[in-house]
Amino acid sequence: MTTKITAPFTPEQVANLNNYQQSNVGHPFTCGNPDKTNEDHPDGNRGALVATIKGWICPFCLYTQDWAHAGMADARALDETKEHLTKLGFKL
Ligand SMILES: [Zn+2]
Repeated sequence: MTTKITAPFTPEQVANLNNYQQSNVGHPFTCGNPDKTNEDHPDGNRGALVATIKGWICPFCLYTQDWAHAGMADARALDETKEHLTKLGFKL
């Protein structure tokens, strides 16, 4: 996954990126604020980012990020990866 997409994201990309974040297929993008603490980001994921049209936002602080891996916004790639991992016995 070396190709990157940058904000603004399309509504479809936003939906796919947020599906990816909740899929357990890969580690979700998390907050990159250098000053963050686990107490500030109590979601168990150190601040999993939320995709919006304007880019990623951290739900706990003002951190934003304007790019994603193209594969994260590819609904078919996500479905195929889920299917593959399920066949291998992973519970998603
Ligand atoms: Zn944050």
